[in-house]
Amino acid sequence: MENFMVGMKIYSLDWFWKYNLDYKQASEELKSLNVSYIITMSKHLPMYNSAVDSEIPAEKKALLDDFDDRAFRDALKDAGIQYFGACNFFFDPPTMYRHGNIPVDHTGAKAVETDWYIGGCPTDEAYIAERTAQIVDAMRSLHMDGVFLGFMRYPGFWELWLPGTSEADWPEYCFCPRCLEKFREASGVSVPQGSPAGSWIRENAHAEWANFKTNTIAEIIKDIRARIREINPDAQVVLNTVPFDAAHYSQNGRKIFGQDPALLAQYVDIFEVMGYHQILKQPVSWIAQAGRYFKEATGKKVVCTVQAKPLYLEGMHAGKGRAESITPEEFSMALNEIRQSGLDGVVVFTWSDFLEQKLIEHETVFTDMISNISKGGA
Ligand SMILES: [Zn+2]
Repeated sequence: MENFMVGMKIYSLDWFWKYNLDYKQASEELKSLNVSYIITMSKHLPMYNSAVDSEIPAEKKALLDDFDDRAFRDALKDAGIQYFGACNFFFDPPTMYRHGNIPVDHTGAKAVETDWYIGGCPTDEAYIAERTAQIVDAMRSLHMDGVFLGFMRYPGFWELWLPGTSEADWPEYCFCPRCLEKFREASGVSVPQGSPAGSWIRENAHAEWANFKTNTIAEIIKDIRARIREINPDAQVVLNTVPFDAAHYSQNGRKIFGQDPALLAQYVDIFEVMGYHQILKQPVSWIAQAGRYFKEATGKKVVCTVQAKPLYLEGMHAGKGRAESITPEEFSMALNEIRQSGLDGVVVFTWSDFLEQKLIEHETVFTDMISNISKGGA
């Protein structure tokens, strides 16, 4: 297949402050891996620590004063690498708390931080306007090829959805007073007086509720796409997609997380399917299957993210039976199956990990596979 897309997630700036690469060296390093696009953090779209450390140690912060997103963006353009600015839309705890935008689950309980994660309620117009303005500002300053929308979904720590998870026990969001009012306006369904809203809706109006949630998410994306296209008419929206294919997860990507692939196909240019097989305890072969599901449901470009190192092994995640390593063979198999499945590309992450392997450990087996996949095989 021509133009197989090879992407890199850059969720920290340690290439700059730790490995001392300048903009041109960084672009050339990515080019040497045959990377054709990056999904990256920037000063315009700050990123809080998730499973990946994005924040810079305090003693290194001064180094970032000189960091120039525009210079990096321009160097990438010269190297022919597309730039997608990453915005973790509904994962921004300081902004969420400032807006009082804490979601409520189906039992009526407010969400609390679980490990590193807490998501925001998706109907707070002031919060949405603030985040959207950051994206528009980044587009204006950097003239990006597009925006990558992370956490553009209903709250939920989907990485905990291991095989055997019960849908009924999973905390569903958001049943805050504002969401209930908007739901009533949109659907005409009113929760009877005296009933606990979450459980009543789940029992009596779950289809209408799911439609409301998927429309809520779709409308936000529709607006962002229109706004960035006023600045760059070719700008593309890449959606960070919960990788719940129907064969393994029923309709829960849609029902619980509010991402409806067929509906979103109108407003999303590229679906990035988070094929984190080790986190979800799925076999490698599942990654391409999940990608195919989204390809068939949307008809749009679909790329799958492939993890090169094991995650979620410590703290509350310990003892869940996740594999403790990802072998080069497994990584290679994942890349090759995605390519052979007629999908549009891959994303690997994170660049920081690959730089550490190459520059510190002098180990290039994973990076060699990345540079070879665009040529037809890892
Ligand atoms: Zn809400």
